[in-house]
Amino acid sequence: MKLTTLITTFILLSVGVTFGQQNLASTDSAMIRDIFDVALVNGESYENLRSLCKDVGARLSGSPEAEKAVRWGQALLSTYEFDSVYLQKITVPFWERGDVESATLNGVELELSALGGSVGTDGKLTAEVIEVDGLDEVAALGKDKIQGKIVFYNRPMDPRPISTFESYGGCVDQRYAGASIASQYGAIAVLVRSMTLLEDDHFPHTGSMGYKPDVTKIPAAALSTSSANTLSESIKSGKGAQVSLEMNCRTNPDVESFNVIAEIKGSQHPEKLIAVGGHLDSWDLGEGAHDDGAGIVHSVEVLRIMKALNYQPKHTIRVVLFMNEENGNMGGKSYARYAKEANENHVAALESDRGGFSPRGFTVKGDSNQVKFIQSFKQLLEPYGLHYFENGYAGVDISPLATADNMVNPKILMMGLVPDSQRYFDFHHTDDDIFENVNKRELELGCASLTAMIYLLDNHLNGQL
Ligand SMILES: [Zn+2]
Repeated sequence: MKLTTLITTFILLSVGVTFGQQNLASTDSAMIRDIFDVALVNGESYENLRSLCKDVGARLSGSPEAEKAVRWGQALLSTYEFDSVYLQKITVPFWERGDVESATLNGVELELSALGGSVGTDGKLTAEVIEVDGLDEVAALGKDKIQGKIVFYNRPMDPRPISTFESYGGCVDQRYAGASIASQYGAIAVLVRSMTLLEDDHFPHTGSMGYKPDVTKIPAAALSTSSANTLSESIKSGKGAQVSLEMNCRTNPDVESFNVIAEIKGSQHPEKLIAVGGHLDSWDLGEGAHDDGAGIVHSVEVLRIMKALNYQPKHTIRVVLFMNEENGNMGGKSYARYAKEANENHVAALESDRGGFSPRGFTVKGDSNQVKFIQSFKQLLEPYGLHYFENGYAGVDISPLATADNMVNPKILMMGLVPDSQRYFDFHHTDDDIFENVNKRELELGCASLTAMIYLLDNHLNGQL
């Protein structure tokens, strides 16, 4: 071949490639625009969230309300006439708060909430409180100082990290392991400062705790930050630190429950799955609006928007409403086990469990090539306020899909929707996590962002990684 021919061919090829890429990019950008238009003009997520919060309400695993949520999810998905809707049987723990929950300091009521999984007090319990700033301090103080006392974990969330999830992660050991550690040194109960950055908040923030197998189970409760401040001041001023505590929470036998699943079959690779989900259960306080009603309606809306646009996905797109994320993750673990047994090939799994706030991007739990692949979509998504595409944790429910025991596809791409995190812990696990605290537009942007990402994966994932 002559040099000029070679050059001409090269130029033609280059133009062809560039032209092809531009075509692709313009198809993608038009589709993403359409996705956002459907979500923002004819979105159904907000009404779905209202229904979940008001018609079902709080729905702790094992409770009759959680069962109602399963039926709610099944009925909602059935109305959309996706290719299939089904229930996946699982077994979940059933902890109940009971109807007695009080703490008084010198006769004054403190705002408290038993931690999920805690034992009750078996009548009223009164003891001196000792304040600590973490698990290590309990060990340092030792049995002499701890024996017979109520240990009060009062280390606040660090306000410096920009992601509040980082602050939460730096603090939550007190809530989860505080009772086990204090019990080892002879404490008779623990109180934990609520996991929130609000300084004078009146809502106690519950959440899960656990007992190590070998310890005496002692009661554990969260105090609102306002009550935590009151208690701390009382201890420091020498006004006294005698607290009376009474709770009748308990753990019942395990209960049968379900993950709720729907899918649209893929036209080219029906055996390859892209799963998207949130968790259907919530704590028993509030309405589980941000945590994780938002993730539920986000995920349902992905399939609905695709259908509304007559978009036929190449991969099978599956929505999973996971049960029992909050106190056991039996939904996530069982889902992954079933997937392994059926040898299902998940090429990607995405989760929304960080609230219904303005979306900022996605975490990618994977290797650097996977992160780079997702970052290649940045230009298409930046006009919609999505700029964050970094390596990070994807989500509790989907995590078991990527453990060694369950792994079918070692290249599975795990992602989490990342909304703005500044207000998430204002509401997290409280009576205040209600529908009225979710903004319609912010919720809808989350739906569109998740749908746009799944559209891009559906079109560009094959053979890429
Ligand atoms: Zn959650």
